[in-house]
Amino acid sequence: MYLFLRNFNTPALQLSCRLVSNYVSRMRHLFDLKEDDEACRKALSSGAFLLFHDLSPLLQRTENKYTVPFVTASELNGILQKLDQKEEYVEESVLIGCTESHVPQFALDLGRTEKARAESLLKGTFVDLRKAFFLLNGKDAPLLSQAQGLLRWHSIHLYCSRTGQLTHKNMSGSKRVCSTDEIIYYPQMSPVIITLVSDGTQCLLARQEAFPPGMYSALAGFCDIGETVEDSVHREVAEEVGLDVSSLEYSASQYWPFPSSSLMIACHAMVQPGQNKIDLNHSELEDARWFDAEELAEALKRKRMPTKKEMGEIPFWIPPPWAIAHQLIKEWTQRQRQS
Ligand SMILES: [Zn+2]
Repeated sequence: MYLFLRNFNTPALQLSCRLVSNYVSRMRHLFDLKEDDEACRKALSSGAFLLFHDLSPLLQRTENKYTVPFVTASELNGILQKLDQKEEYVEESVLIGCTESHVPQFALDLGRTEKARAESLLKGTFVDLRKAFFLLNGKDAPLLSQAQGLLRWHSIHLYCSRTGQLTHKNMSGSKRVCSTDEIIYYPQMSPVIITLVSDGTQCLLARQEAFPPGMYSALAGFCDIGETVEDSVHREVAEEVGLDVSSLEYSASQYWPFPSSSLMIACHAMVQPGQNKIDLNHSELEDARWFDAEELAEALKRKRMPTKKEMGEIPFWIPPPWAIAHQLIKEWTQRQRQS
């Protein structure tokens, strides 16, 4: 996802910008669909649909490979009929993007239908999102995350938090409006900072009790109201490991759907070499340790999650390549080895 985000810097895309930017025209097209209910309703009849069931995406398996299928509007219509659903079910879809050729893309949750029957009609399986990431090895993770995050937000904002009355989705799903006091609710994410602390020669990784056995990662925590990213990094590192960081550098960001829509803001932070004594906050962390570039280079060679058996046999392991923590560790290790 990190690489996905940086794609706009690639020479190929810079070249294509000399033509009338397709990116700009796509974004304008999406903007119109978000704002205009009628245009969006029409777009539903020519759209492509990612399907979910109770927030689990549909995957199909062909020759030992899993893929995320898009279903056309007419296919979806046929399937809804066979599932004894009204045609209007499709209006519960949310807009998630459009293709290079301006085909609008939507996501729809078929949670009101019988799962096994939907799976047999769609020749696929609805798989828990975390498991889907592993089966797909991170491929399509940004798109699935975005779609699931938006569907989840709608599923838990059915009522106005002030009046308790029903809220209504606009056609694209870019907002919900309360039926009585017209308060507008926009989909939200929580900012989370993820920080790799370094003392110049080593970097600090930690584990929470809830992590799978042997996994160590960068420190992470929610930003508090009123804080800047800098404040959050400073406070989280002090809270969790008792260190006072002296500087930080932004690296990248990533949308993360777990546990519920976070914007992960990844930073490198420095502590003074003589001030690296860890004072662990046991109510937050189970362990925290300093690692050197050699150890991390070894851990970076692993391209997938270890199996349960392997977890007991390796000293430690780090999150998989599609997690931003992995990218932070990779960046730090490469810099250490260059210097
Ligand atoms: Zn209200």
